[in-house]
Amino acid sequence: MIVAEKVYLKPITVDEAIRFAKKYAGSFRYIAGGTDVIVNKFQGNDASDCLIDITGIEELKKVIKDKKHIKIGSLVRLDDLKTHPEIRKLFPALLEAAHSVASPMLRKTATLGGNILCENRCMFYNQSEWWREAVGYCLKCDGEICIATGGKKNCFSKFVSDTAPVLIALNASLEIADGEKEYILPLEEIYSGDGMKPRLLGNSAIIKFINLPLAEEPSCVFKKLRPREAVDFTSLTTAVSKSIKGKIRIVLGGVDPKPILIEGMANEKDELIKQAIKKSRIVDNDTYSRPYRKEMISVFLEQSFEKLNPS
Ligand SMILES: Cc1cc2nc3c(=O)[nH]c(=O)nc-3n(C[C@H](O)[C@H](O)[C@H](O)COP(=O)(O)OP(=O)(O)OC[C@H]3O[C@@H](n4cnc5c(N)ncnc54)[C@H](O)[C@@H]3O)c2cc1C
Ligand code: SF4
Repeated sequence: MIVAEKVYLKPITVDEAIRFAKKYAGSFRYIAGGTDVIVNKFQGNDASDCLIDITGIEELKKVIKDKKHIKIGSLVRLDDLKTHPEIRKLFPALLEAAHSVASPMLRKTATLGGNILCENRCMFYNQSEWWREAVGYCLKCDGEICIATGGKKNCFSKFVSDTAPVLIALNASLEIADGEKEYILPLEEIYSGDGMKPRLLGNSAIIKFINLPLAEEPSCVFKKLRPREAVDFTSLTTAVSKSIKGKIRIVLGGVDPKPILIEGMANEKDELIKQAIKKSRIVDNDTYSRPYRKEMISVFLEQSFEKLNPS
């Protein structure tokens, strides 16, 4: 059933947004570009009564450079990232990842903050209510089993953000506001690994800035597997970064309920690839089969290492 919201609020400061969130705790959703939230509402996967539109908060639309970081406001639109010369020059893999999201029109609305928080997906869940009812529902929508695995405990809906793997590979952290508290967390720490509740952020928390450190000067290679070059969500996203000291960060998306992070040194390639495959809890909930996606992890990672360390 499509549940339309009953209250629509448009705060102009972070504090005001959090105050609204506390008032409607339990049944609200922040909305930025809305390209994920509204689709989930139309498919009956989001029953929140109240939408808090944060696009009036000007502070979150800025890109700021300080001595240590580029700080990207969470409301910066994916399509606008390329208009910032420093992002273009220092973090081209982020632009590539942003450009791989959805379609040109969606990228003109979708924000970076919304992208790193976009909902996990599964081909048995992201369907119409009629479709889900016909197959008998699954754990994520009040059913009794996971259709993908037959299990009764865990949901393995996929983590699908394409920019988050690159941001994690580049050591990004988040500036988060939640009521009285403001704190900074490494991006990878907000993901739980539980497909039913994939994020660990407080209910009313707002991401203010995504901070990219300048000192490490890593190079980064991004890759994405999907049936078509536009509109399709990922079946496997990989980001591999190498710092000037030879430190490697491999991040996988699309193959587990959270991004998979593996760290090591450039001369440990085979071992790191082995670990990445082992850590990914891939299940058959995608248009491509589990064995094929597993195989493609090593293909993509080998190609990425080749690009980072040309022989
Ligand atoms: C056809 C189609 C194809 C798509 N393809 C892709 C794809 O290939 N790759 C991909 O990654 N995504 C894809 N998406 C999903 C979505 O468009 C993107 O993830 C987009 O970047 C979400 O950003 P948004 O600003 O629209 O988020 P919204 O829909 O506004 O919000 C998404 C989530 O983030 C929360 N939120 C947003 N901003 C903040 C903030 N600052 N602080 C706290 N919470 C916040 C919202 O409450 C919500 O839970 C696709 C969507 C569609 C409709
Ligand atoms: S992984 Fe299983 S429980 Fe989770 S959404 Fe898919 S079918 Fe449902």
